[in-house]
Amino acid sequence: MLTRIANGRVIDPAHGRDGVGDVWMRDGRIVEAPPGARADATYDATGKIVMAGAIDIHSHIAGWNVNTARLLLPEQHRAATARPATTPLANAGWSTFQTGCLYAAMGFTTVVEPAVSPHYALHAHLELADIPIIDKATLVILGNDDYLLGLLHGNESEAAIEDYVAWTLSMSRSLGIKVVNAGGAAAFKENVRAFSFDDVVPSYGVSSRRIVKALQHAVTKLGVPHPLHVHCNNLGLSGNFETARMTIAAAGDLPLHLAHLQFYSYGKEGERGFSSAAPAVAEAVNAARSVTIDVGQVMFGQTVTISADVLRQFNARNQASPKKSVILDGDANGAGIVPYNYRRSDFYNAVQWATGLELFLLIEDSSRVFFTTDHPNGAPFTTYPEIFALLMSRDLRAQWLAQVPPEAAKLTTLPSIAREYSLPEIAAMTRAAPAKLLGLYDRGHLAAGAVADVAVYENDPDRAKMFRSAALVFKDGDLVVRDGKVTHYRFGRALDVRPERDRAIDRRMKAYYQDRYGLSDEFVKVPEHAIGRPEPFQEVPCAS
Ligand SMILES: [Zn+2]
Repeated sequence: MLTRIANGRVIDPAHGRDGVGDVWMRDGRIVEAPPGARADATYDATGKIVMAGAIDIHSHIAGWNVNTARLLLPEQHRAATARPATTPLANAGWSTFQTGCLYAAMGFTTVVEPAVSPHYALHAHLELADIPIIDKATLVILGNDDYLLGLLHGNESEAAIEDYVAWTLSMSRSLGIKVVNAGGAAAFKENVRAFSFDDVVPSYGVSSRRIVKALQHAVTKLGVPHPLHVHCNNLGLSGNFETARMTIAAAGDLPLHLAHLQFYSYGKEGERGFSSAAPAVAEAVNAARSVTIDVGQVMFGQTVTISADVLRQFNARNQASPKKSVILDGDANGAGIVPYNYRRSDFYNAVQWATGLELFLLIEDSSRVFFTTDHPNGAPFTTYPEIFALLMSRDLRAQWLAQVPPEAAKLTTLPSIAREYSLPEIAAMTRAAPAKLLGLYDRGHLAAGAVADVAVYENDPDRAKMFRSAALVFKDGDLVVRDGKVTHYRFGRALDVRPERDRAIDRRMKAYYQDRYGLSDEFVKVPEHAIGRPEPFQEVPCAS
């Protein structure tokens, strides 16, 4: 079947395209305009904006942390039929099924769940397979696990670490490696409550820096396209911009991705000793060509923080709102689930909100700054349209700034920043650049051969409205959304990498799991049948 999206303004920064024209699709792929051919189906996009489907590189949408949050906060997300309209998490529609529908309605077609423990990878994949429409991928967490720390403690070879990283990626069917507070969670088991980049995990004698560098080298050497994805130490603490700058400096010439950098861009200025240090952090990012970052924008409202940074979550448990939390220590990273309400009238929350926007606006290269709220940690992903609007309008930012505490506004440079994102910059940040960062070269653009993931938007001056509800969305060439409503359900797949390894590691891991856990190594293996949904899905409407 040959499909034509006709006469839209096609914005495809990967190929420098921005002009009125057509996009053609056949058998799930973008194709060149066939000379003289008549389309089997034509969609008129006159006056509309046409982009590739968007890609979210960091959004917690599946796995044991997400489900623990659901168990902790039943009042925030009842069954779809009884969903309260007023609570933000209800609006976020945080069920697995709604996750896919809501992403698709905004024109997102690929989403990465960035924090899967190797031992829970099977469950995360089974759950991801139940999310309709979008394609998915996972990042698997290493860096607080006994095996890696043991290799470093024993001064084992780089090759041994590479084999272990490759084995982990293959067993867990992941697209990349993430490290969360490298060494911090391991140190926490020994009652350490503060852990910085050059601190050492007591029992292993290994510093956070050494763990990050070892993993960065291994990921690079194995040829994994996505750089090591780093959740730094000292998340959320005033003065932590020094940690961010130290980590950026440690990247050297090798690729490194820093996640939700907003949470590491705080200074100690002002009466309360808490300020935005985004300009200093942005300057460091601008100068470090091998470093990419995502923002982790904060937006106001109720949410829940879910993180494998158990040390940080333990320290933050007293700020829980409502007053309940789950801290799970245990295997490797553990996890912490702490509900939180970001308030517009709160000094600290207002500084956090402004700090994220400063990073977006002060990092010059829109292909090195990625769009995230660290869903749901900074805000639910359903707030993305409002953030696009804020990035695109200085006036809108001024209106919001007028509503936050004046002493907070004074401690950021946001009021002085004139930059406004253009539509091609939004497209670069949410399409072209993430595809490249993840090594998913068949998407994020609209050239022949790409997966036919296409989003068509009304060119509405209300940018939030425009991005909230795409006019048309195609997934693999299938029309799945019309006027912001899902019209057709289908199921995507999980994307992964499986680098080569010396098979001797398989025997070593078998022995390790037997010795250490008394378990077969099979339990960490995600079988092929867990990827994707084989059976037809009975259609259930996405409740809005
Ligand atoms: Zn995260």
